[in-house]
Amino acid sequence: MSLEGKVALVTGGSRGLGREISLALAKTGAAVAVNYASQHEAAREVVQEIESSGGKGHLFQADVTSFEECEKMIKAVLDHFGRIDILVNNAGIRKDNILARMKEEDWDSVVDTNLKGTYNCCKAALKPLLKQKSGGRIINMASIAGLVGNSGQCNYAAAKAGVIAFTKSLAREVGKRDITVNAIAPGFIETEMTREMPHELKEKAIASIAQERFGKPEEVAEVVLFLAQGAEYITGTVICIDGGLAL
Ligand code: NAP
Repeated sequence: MSLEGKVALVTGGSRGLGREISLALAKTGAAVAVNYASQHEAAREVVQEIESSGGKGHLFQADVTSFEECEKMIKAVLDHFGRIDILVNNAGIRKDNILARMKEEDWDSVVDTNLKGTYNCCKAALKPLLKQKSGGRIINMASIAGLVGNSGQCNYAAAKAGVIAFTKSLAREVGKRDITVNAIAPGFIETEMTREMPHELKEKAIASIAQERFGKPEEVAEVVLFLAQGAEYITGTVICIDGGLAL
């Protein structure tokens, strides 16, 4: 199904999964609002790539930890593209450490970006989505860590578990308005986030995955497309993309 005429906002669209998701949505016909925090050049390249393949894209800088900035971003998306149909809350960070050594600021920044950022963007986008009366798709990036926990990731896993509970609650609130709200829970996917992992940790991780490899960003984008293009009767669920890691 083509997404022609639809507008998608992808937070953290400058790199990694967000980049791949932005390109995939644009290829399917959606106009894509590419959000980023600080890496302007990387985000600009994503928009350039969209435009050079004949698609529509535009840059929107905003820090998702600030509600004020998210509100301004949604207004700017509406001013530029005239509507919003699909919101992909993908922006996220991790600052791993065992709890005994975890600094308060690392707890706060991880929860603020991953969980509060999702609240901020959903809250800011909800009014226009409801006003349009044409349904909508909200896709929140969780993580396998939010389902089964992970040593060294109390902050990240708690934030992602929060994203899952938030997704289920919002799905109940807006279901009757044809807005679906779903979460995606990737395992280990090849991006900068996982490239930084020490070699031994990577080897250990691969040994615990049934498919014995990390996933590719395209494999996550495929699932976002599935949820964005149809999947009308799927809401409040969590789709794991983990090659069998959490079996
Ligand atoms: P990444 O390569 O590190 O990219 C992170 C993206 O988030 C960048 O576009 C970054 O923008 C943006 N971002 C960070 N803080 C932000 C803020 N305050 N406001 C707006 N944007 C912000 O990460 P990734 O691996 O693609 O991960 C994407 C999402 O998938 C995250 O939510 C992550 O938790 C989740 N996830 C990833 C994996 C994995 O294995 N990679 C597994 C499970 C879940 P700038 O470029 O401007 O900094």
